[in-house]
Amino acid sequence: RSLLESDFSSIMLVESSGETARLRLRAAVGLSDEAHQNTLVPLNDDIAGRIAARQEPLVVNDVRRHDPASPLIPEGVVSVIGVPLSTGGKFLGVINAGTRTAHKYTLEDQAMLELLAARAASTIVRARLFEAERMARGHAERLQMVTAALSEAARPDEVMGVALEQLRHALKACTVAIALTTQDSEHIFVSRVLGDRQLAPPEGSSFALDDDNPLIDVVRRRKAVWVGDGSYPNGSADMRSWAAIPLEVEGRAVGAVTIAFRETQDFNEDDRAFALAVARQAAQALERARLFQAEQDARRQADAGRARAAFLADATALLASSLDYNATLEAVAQAGVPTLGDWCAVDMLEGLPGDAGPAARLLRVAVASARSWKADGHTDASRHMPAYELISSIRTSDASVAGWAPPEVLARAMESGKPVFEVSAGNDVPVPATGPGALPHGPACASLLVVPIASRGRTVGTISLCRTRPGRRHQKADIMLAEELASRAAVSLEQAWLYRAAQQANAAKAEFLATISHELRTPLNAIIGYSDLLGEGISGPINQQQALQLDRMRMSARHLLFLIDETLAFARSEADLHPVHLEEVDLHLSAREVAGAFARELSDRGIEFQYNVTSDVPLILSDSAKIRQVLRNLLSNASKFTDSGSVALSAYCHGDSVVIDVSDTGIGISPANLARIFEPFWQVEQSRTRRVGGTGIGLSVARKYAEMLGGSLTVRSAPEVGSTFSLRLPANRQDAVHTHPESAS
Ligand code: ADP
Repeated sequence: RSLLESDFSSIMLVESSGETARLRLRAAVGLSDEAHQNTLVPLNDDIAGRIAARQEPLVVNDVRRHDPASPLIPEGVVSVIGVPLSTGGKFLGVINAGTRTAHKYTLEDQAMLELLAARAASTIVRARLFEAERMARGHAERLQMVTAALSEAARPDEVMGVALEQLRHALKACTVAIALTTQDSEHIFVSRVLGDRQLAPPEGSSFALDDDNPLIDVVRRRKAVWVGDGSYPNGSADMRSWAAIPLEVEGRAVGAVTIAFRETQDFNEDDRAFALAVARQAAQALERARLFQAEQDARRQADAGRARAAFLADATALLASSLDYNATLEAVAQAGVPTLGDWCAVDMLEGLPGDAGPAARLLRVAVASARSWKADGHTDASRHMPAYELISSIRTSDASVAGWAPPEVLARAMESGKPVFEVSAGNDVPVPATGPGALPHGPACASLLVVPIASRGRTVGTISLCRTRPGRRHQKADIMLAEELASRAAVSLEQAWLYRAAQQANAAKAEFLATISHELRTPLNAIIGYSDLLGEGISGPINQQQALQLDRMRMSARHLLFLIDETLAFARSEADLHPVHLEEVDLHLSAREVAGAFARELSDRGIEFQYNVTSDVPLILSDSAKIRQVLRNLLSNASKFTDSGSVALSAYCHGDSVVIDVSDTGIGISPANLARIFEPFWQVEQSRTRRVGGTGIGLSVARKYAEMLGGSLTVRSAPEVGSTFSLRLPANRQDAVHTHPESAS
């Protein structure tokens, strides 16, 4: 401006994007600010456009005739001069000046301006080279940073964050975004947007991959698109430039990166190379992060599966620990805590398993809860889950269902037979302050899950599980686990019911057997009594044959009595109705008494009977009636199964025990049968057994009694050699030990 004493001067540089080349105003003095803002002039238009088109100097002496209202020429200017800026045959743009004085510029002015233009052009080229080199260096450094940052990003969102941040910064973009294809490869969704959100679709929006859309085109054709001149069809009004680069992994597109600008862009080589490199690395890093996440998800799932299996194993062990119905109910409540709830209650229909009419009520039968709510004075009843404990177990007929499991919620679960899940909005579920299940210091319930317990197609009760922390509300997996717990609880409760019913039936049977035995004994005692009277000749003399017949009668009657006693003893021991009467027992007396009854019968049959109770056998604290019953059973068997040889009864001390052996030289027992002879009603299948008779309960009663007395009954036997049964009893030595003269057979 000063060289030509002008009012304004400006420089416009040529810009080409695609096929069109235009001039952009790049520097000016004396022009309005508005004109300065990125004014573009098509070649051939305007004065500058004409200079550019012809690439020749131009002097206009009266602008108004040419171009009355160009923003590039200030108001009042009449004379304009302009020359092309070129160097080495390359056209760069136009430099011009103008003044309000008409016919101002001379040929000399033109020569000066051309000289200036030549210098300016070569300076611009140099500056451009320098700038390009600086940019290239910057991109290279930045690319190294991107590589380092991406290699550290583990999760997909971190990868996207790093890549977008670097792109936006390096290209000075207004908005950058990443869109990813869905797993089914049918959609693409916008995963991340950085920068001005007006220039990108909102995060989370998605497009079908068969849509007609420039972004989808990029993904489908796997080819980057660069639109620098505002010609992008779908862009917002503010968007002037747009680029999209596909994200490729092993030859398939997994998404695209988009870059948007408010200004037109020339997207030079370096920028493109940089953006492509970032996209390539981001795609690799994304794939790696996706795999990593998939693996982590799988591991989390496997962990959850393991935890679930462990919970069910614990619950099953807990439920299997008892056949007692009440204990099982408590186990169900305990099993729910702490995995499924901080508090767990079991409610059962009244009067199970009989029919519960329409007026059936639910009874709260067990409650377990977290230790932190422990009310003072409650004992630590939970051994299985040490951090938690059973607060109380309630069986009251009028316990109302209250507190954390409101009756209507329980009723819904009962009626639908499906889990009911309630989340309280605030702390509005009341804690029961008094009565069954009261938890004085307990926090409020945030999440309540009620699962029905179904048995044989009928809902018989509910398990209520309560969590207090809002952050730990029940999830879908919890509901499935609770249902599994309920179905296992149902099986265990059913077993406990059956066991209880069986026990009740057994008790009834024992009662019946006791009555019958008593009824049989009364007339039998009369038979024995009267035959004794007859035998002693009190009612008159009897001859020898009659005496023999009476003997047979009495023997049969006594055998019958033995069988009845054995049956009674068995029935009582089965029903655990036979209490132990502890007393001082003198084995010398008891053994001799029982042996005496068998000695004669054995010698009549020509079998030797040996009797040997050593003198050191002390008085013991035991139940003599039970010991005698055991010895009778053993001697009766020894006698039954021995045809020749001997039967022996011997007693001696062994350590802290007294051992009584009953041995015989009879038929013996095969190893296969040895384990079974103690089972009730079990007899070795042999014609001999049938011949000698027997009920098959003698040994089972004998072993049971031995155990009741704190001892044991064992056997050693070999077929055709004989058997030895050993009754071992705790010695319980008394202070005064009786000594007896050695007894012989
Ligand atoms: P029972 O003698 O009334 O059949 P037990 O329970 O006393 O019933 O005995 C069960 C079975 O064990 C007998 O039937 C018999 O087969 C076998 N057994 C018991 N004691 C002996 C023995 N001393 N010698 C051989 N077998 C025996």
